[in-house]
Amino acid sequence: MDSEDADSQRIDDAYNSQAEHQRKSIKEIPSEAITVAIFCTLAFEAVAVKYSFDEEFTCHPTCIGPKNYLYSFGRIGNHRIILARPHHVGPVQAAHCAATVRQQFPNVQFALSIGTGGGIPHLPRHDIRLGDIAIGIPGDNHPGILEYDFGKYEQDRFVLKGCANKPPSILISADGSLEEDEIMERSPLSKILRTLTTRPKYAHPYVEDILYDAKFHHINKGDDCNGCEAATEKNHVYRPPRPHHQPYVHRGLILSGNGVVKNPRDRDLLRRGYDDAVCFEMEAAGIVDEIPCLVVRGICNYADTHKQDAWRYYAAAAAAAYGKALLCKIDGPHMRQNSSVGDLVRYV
Ligand SMILES: [Zn+2]
Repeated sequence: MDSEDADSQRIDDAYNSQAEHQRKSIKEIPSEAITVAIFCTLAFEAVAVKYSFDEEFTCHPTCIGPKNYLYSFGRIGNHRIILARPHHVGPVQAAHCAATVRQQFPNVQFALSIGTGGGIPHLPRHDIRLGDIAIGIPGDNHPGILEYDFGKYEQDRFVLKGCANKPPSILISADGSLEEDEIMERSPLSKILRTLTTRPKYAHPYVEDILYDAKFHHINKGDDCNGCEAATEKNHVYRPPRPHHQPYVHRGLILSGNGVVKNPRDRDLLRRGYDDAVCFEMEAAGIVDEIPCLVVRGICNYADTHKQDAWRYYAAAAAAAYGKALLCKIDGPHMRQNSSVGDLVRYV
């Protein structure tokens, strides 16, 4: 064996030894034990959720027909979780993924859609900042999530059609309990987020959180706003300083659709007059009609021309931290015998 072969053998041995170690240390669970699904679209969003797991599992679900997805499995509190990612961005891909999960994991009771989104600052009602968290909670005239681009053009206006399912009652109730904790200043969110942000790349970013006036557009083509800051005509929207860096939670309407909203004019137009709208995102509408689901988004931009990437990882960690805090509020599975998502859609 020459030295190249010897090196190759050592790499193989190291890989096999690591794989063997993982096989021994990660427990396998049956697909029937899984009762919660979490959907993320982008890799860094899924990693933030994985970092929030108390334990990782393996699982080998039976599959009818071609195998289309690889999943991750873990535990948060008493919940055994499947973490799934659609192949591409968009509600249609998300719906396909959710339908497959529903078929392969019949005991899943509810889902969380966790990721990042573009905030809709609407002062003073919604003083949304980068790194804050948006939750789709039903209001007087909406179910917590709407497809903003699904409707018909009438003579002088666009009329939304369709109506997404509301989140399941247990998740609305758990969110309400977290809201009480926030008011009493005893929310577990900041402690969980502190742990997640010790991971590489997920720390609170050093890039300043600036909201520009809607009429002032991004100047240079680069990712940062150095050119905008150097411009004499720049105009920041004044927002009172916060006493700490912890994210605030904004509960309201999340707008779901196929497009990336990147300028203030569209941001206001596509809000469709809903004062309660807090966030744009691109998957959740495809999931909520397949599995009862609460939508959670970390705010990583303001859906304007200054959209940049510096806050993405931290915002994903904030959303994952909220997801964990929420699940820890809920006891373990409480299924009726032989219950399935189909049954639960009617009962939760
Ligand atoms: Zn800019």
